[in-house]
This record gives sequence, C-alpha cells and structure tokens, in this order.
Amino acid sequence: MGRLIVVSNRVPPPEDKRASAGGLAVALQAALREQGGLWLGWSGDTAASEADSEQIRTRVEGNITYSLVDLTKRDLEEYYSGFANRALWPLLHYRLDLADFDRRDTSGYFRVNAFFARVLAAQLEPDDVIWVQDYHLIPLAAELRARGVTNKIGFFLHIPWPPPDVFSAMPWHRRLLETFTSYDLIGFQIDYDAENFVNCLVREGLGRETSRGTFHAGEREFRIGAFPIGIDTEEFAAIAIEAEQNALVHRMVASLENRQLIIGVDRLDYSKGIDQRMLAYERYLENNPSSLGKVSYLQITPKSRSEVPEYAEMQREIAETAGRINGAFSDLDWTPIRYINRTIRRTTLAGLYRLSDVGLVTPLRDGMNLVAKEYVAAQNVEDPGVLVLSRFAGAARELDGAVLVNPYDMESTAGAIAGALAMPLDERVSRWKGMYDRLKRYHVNKWCDTFLEVLETPLNVPAFGSQEEPWRAAS
Ligand code: UDP
Repeated sequence: MGRLIVVSNRVPPPEDKRASAGGLAVALQAALREQGGLWLGWSGDTAASEADSEQIRTRVEGNITYSLVDLTKRDLEEYYSGFANRALWPLLHYRLDLADFDRRDTSGYFRVNAFFARVLAAQLEPDDVIWVQDYHLIPLAAELRARGVTNKIGFFLHIPWPPPDVFSAMPWHRRLLETFTSYDLIGFQIDYDAENFVNCLVREGLGRETSRGTFHAGEREFRIGAFPIGIDTEEFAAIAIEAEQNALVHRMVASLENRQLIIGVDRLDYSKGIDQRMLAYERYLENNPSSLGKVSYLQITPKSRSEVPEYAEMQREIAETAGRINGAFSDLDWTPIRYINRTIRRTTLAGLYRLSDVGLVTPLRDGMNLVAKEYVAAQNVEDPGVLVLSRFAGAARELDGAVLVNPYDMESTAGAIAGALAMPLDERVSRWKGMYDRLKRYHVNKWCDTFLEVLETPLNVPAFGSQEEPWRAAS
C-alpha cells in the first residue's frame, strides 16, 4: 500500500497530537502515521505576492510530511471568503437567501484548486492514495486528472448536500457537479445527503447507477456512500472526568448555586439556529414561571468568519436577543442566559458538558454536529444529562436517545426543554446508554479506516459493511 495523502483547506499544526486538538485532526494524523504520508493545505498565512505563494513550506515529523502553502489576499477573498463561504456554505446549508454567486469568486475558487493540484501533482508517487476533505476543494480531483494523475482519489464532504432544486440555483452547478466524477469515492455524512447528491447527478444526466453504490459517468466509474463521522469517544469521556478538577469548571459549579444548567456550544453561524434557540428558551421561561431563578442557560459562541458581512449582522442580532431576554427576566441574583463570545478549550468544554443537565443542540441544518456527540460522551454514567437535538443535524440519524426537535417550531422546542429538565433518572440513563455505546463502536478512527478501506476496494468487490453499520452505499 502506498502513502496516504490528505488534502484540506487548513492543516493542523504538527505538534497538536492531543485530544484537545479535535478528534478529526487526531484521527487523520493517526491514519497518516500508520501508512506514512503527506498532509497538504493552506498554511493560514497570506503571501505578499503570487511568486511568494509558490514557496512551499515542508515540515517532516516522523513519517508524515506537512506541506503548507500560503495564499495571496486575492486568492483568499475569492476562493475562501468568496466562493467557499459566501456561495457554497449557504447553498449546501439550504440558505439560498444568503448565497452570493459571484463570477470573480468562482474563477478564484477554480484557480486556487488548480494551484493546489499543481503543487500536489509534483509530489505524488504512483501508489499514493489521495483523500480530499470538504467543500473548499471539490474540483481538486478533476484538476489532478487533467494533469495525468491516475491515483485513487477519495472525497469527503463534512457539510450537508441539498436536493437538486436547491443545488441547481447556483449558476455553475453543472460545472461543479461534473468535477465530482473524477473521484473514485465520494463520501457524505448521512444517507440523506448521499441520496440528494445522487439525485443531482441523475437529474443533470451526469451519472447512472451500475450496481448498489457504484455509478458510471463518461469513462469513469466511482462509488458514492454515507460515512457518518465519529468522535474520539472514550478519550473525550476521560477528558470530561479529568475536567471536573479544572478551576474554571469549579467556578462554574459554584456560580450555579444548585440551579439546573442548559448548555449550547456553537460557532457563530446562521446554520446553528442560535437566535431561534434563544427564543425557544424565552418561550420556555414564559410557559414555566416556576423555573425563573432555577435554570441557567450557558451559550458559548466563538466568533467565526467575521470577514463575511452576514456573520457580523448575525452577531449583532443574537447579542440583542440575549440582551433583551436577560433584561426582561433577570433578577438581582440571577441571569437566565450567559452568553460568551469566545473560544473555550475543548478540554474545559468537556467539563462544562458533564455538569450540564441539558445539551441544547438545535441547528437549522448541520452536516453532523460533533458537539452533540461530545455532549453524550462527556456525561456521568450515574447521572447523565439529556441531549435535545435538532432533527436537521446529521447526528440525529444516529443518536436515537436524544429528544428530537424541529428548531423552527419554538413552542415544541420550549416543551422539549421543559421535558428534558424534568426527565427522571432511569429514562435519562437508558436514553444515554444506547447513544454512548454506539459512539464507542463508531469511533472517529473507525470512520477513517472504513472510508479508506472502501476507497481501496476494487469496484467489482462489494465494499460496504453489514446492515447494522452506519456506512451506507448510496442509490
Ligand atoms: N469547539 C471548541 N471550543 C469552542 C467551541 C467549539 O473547541 O469554544 C469545538 C467543539 O468541541 C467541536 C467543534 O469545535 O469539536 C465544533 O464542531 P461541530 O461539528 O459541532 O461544528 P462546526 O463548527 O464544525 O460547524
């Protein structure tokens, strides 16, 4: 078996091997170590000129080579902030109202993908297996094929994929869709996304199914499937136990004065439904006057993508909603919402999840939502909290012990919060146990191994697992 080549927009710093770095980065690094390999991506730095962006910084750690490229300010504006985050992100999260389809950004996106392909092609060996991560790099395989690369290339999309009527609103939908047919395996988070994608291909006449999970387009045959991503379950559970000794977690416990705690943790993003969630909590307070002064809701929301105007606007709206609710309901010794706008370390988060009675995870649309899985992993076996989860998060396909809600329906979300806070211990334990066992079985390392196994399986050999497993062939 050849080397593993991972390509992603950002590359984690090589020194981050601890669980605090995030399960995905650690799992990919483990796979790279096992096989030996290369991780290529943007360094996070801006190049002063195009000539400077040609300088590749290489760092070797054991049998992993990290290859980092700088991008120019123009590249970043067009490829990253522009097409990836202002066209693809809203489009793939069903938010056509927020999508900005700009010609210049689109050509910047294809140009940067061609640049990554050129850099990678120069470093490839014949047996290398390439794994491309996420929506920033969709055309990468097509650009590599155009340069004569015949290696196996897989792609995994971490975010949702919408139905054809939504996707085809993008003026360049067909051009982008065509580039997918250069991959050997295209992976999605859940079966619904894979189905939507197949419907897009078929609608455009770009592919037809030859056998379950295998598709044919032009000269090429490739696989499409669902590979729900996991977390580092037991490692995260151990961090949560350790975090009980964390000084910040101690301060949080003391400040609660025996009140019940609800926690929400989301990057500031319109897909997360933070404003709607606060309104549902307000409805809960209105409907349950006896809860006033007895429940605290902690919402941790680090800022993200501040360079995109929609995000600045949203930040103002959410802060206003939190301020209005606090103004209306607070007492001298109690504030209903604690709203925090900065990043909290993953190790501290684990402790905060563990002491929360309810994990409130209500995105309007989410590929998977790792916070939901981390919340479950962090719970105390003897006294677990309740996960209230949006049915529009990929995680809802797996976490059947959660209380599922429609985040657009304020009244029933308010009811679900009340039910979760009052849930008896035996029901909490039985709901939690099934979810935790599943998360243990489908650890992020297993996700990584399964994707690579399917990618390397010849097309005439069945590649997907048994009915009990979450990996599914698309059809
Ligand atoms: N996270 C963190 N600190 C924070 C907020 C979030 O470390 O202050 C982590 C969180 O633990 C999770 C990830 O960021 O691992 C968020 O992943 P998720 O899939 O929930 O959402 P995304 O931000 O990728 O859309």
